[in-house]
Amino acid sequence: ELQSLFTRSDAYHNSFLIKPDPILDFVQKNTQDKGIEYDMAVSPAQGKFLQLILLSTGAKRVLEVGSLAGYSAIWMARALPDDGEVVALELEPSHAQALEENVKAAQLSSKIKVIVGPAHQSMKDLPSAKPFDLVFIDADKQNNTNYFIEGKRLVRKSGVIIVDNVGRNGRPADLDDHDAKVEGVRGLLRYIKDDAEVEATTIHTVGEKGFDGFLYAIRK
Ligand code: SAM
Repeated sequence: ELQSLFTRSDAYHNSFLIKPDPILDFVQKNTQDKGIEYDMAVSPAQGKFLQLILLSTGAKRVLEVGSLAGYSAIWMARALPDDGEVVALELEPSHAQALEENVKAAQLSSKIKVIVGPAHQSMKDLPSAKPFDLVFIDADKQNNTNYFIEGKRLVRKSGVIIVDNVGRNGRPADLDDHDAKVEGVRGLLRYIKDDAEVEATTIHTVGEKGFDGFLYAIRK
């Protein structure tokens, strides 16, 4: 039914727009072989979309909050110039280890810097003197607002903050649903409503990852 339609449509478009990629195939296999939930990664079309945003904005520095095994970080790092950098924050040591391995296989170790630990603290430890062009928030959804606030401190003026998985099958709009991740989305929306420092919009998406969406914000 609906999900198979979303998946088929995504695959159809990808067959024209996403090239075969042995390195990302390796990343997927290596991650799954370690028993890590690879399904949490962004889809190929979403990874490429992040890459295109970076290319179109001439980005050099990216902060990723929640990196799993490096799939999205690799898409983004490939868009950066030689002196560009993705700072990848990841809590789980087993994920971080797979991440380091995958980044090495992609020959991107010089562009992706992994910081292991709780992302909120890692963000607090980063200096705002070296601002980021884009912050991609994709970790524990309960902390979305905390990450967003620190992201604002760390992103340059007119820089971009993207928060993944805010659509969640429409569940945030169901006020009887008190799931912690759903509440994480609502808390962020309430925060942004009264925040004079950003402009933001949610783009809902369908595809192989179901019905979801991302929030796209600009630091004014
Ligand atoms: N961005 C990745 C990609 O598309 O390839 C997927 C990230 S996955 C959805 C979320 C990741 O956030 C997991 O690897 C999880 O271990 C990590 N995470 C969860 N809580 C965290 C925290 N407090 N600090 C840092 N990372 C955390």
